[in-house]
Amino acid sequence: MDKKELNSESLEKVTGGFTTFTETDKDGNTIITKFGVINLCSGCGECENACPSGAITIGPDGAEIDGDCCILCWSCADVCPLGSIGEKRIIIPAPTAE
Ligand code: SF4
Ligand code: SF4
Repeated sequence: MDKKELNSESLEKVTGGFTTFTETDKDGNTIITKFGVINLCSGCGECENACPSGAITIGPDGAEIDGDCCILCWSCADVCPLGSIGEKRIIIPAPTAE
């Protein structure tokens, strides 16, 4: 895929492409990890080429990650020329006994 030039149109198309993983740590806290495009995406396809699981497709809004295939190896984040792939974490504390 040819690299697209970044322009105002592509800026407006950045929507995410997140996939979400939920786990519980040893203390019972729920950790929600949203992994995906956290910044501007040019649609260059470098991440798609680097993914060992075929989890990434490049759509009209940029990279999309399929959580059913993703193994969280971070290869896509390593090759992204814009540093646009990463994670956000939300931690929900375990309920306390009353
Ligand atoms: S973290 Fe690894 S498996 Fe998941 S989308 Fe990126 S390259 Fe593919
Ligand atoms: S490598 Fe980065 S800029 Fe290129 S398509 Fe993937 S997320 Fe977008």
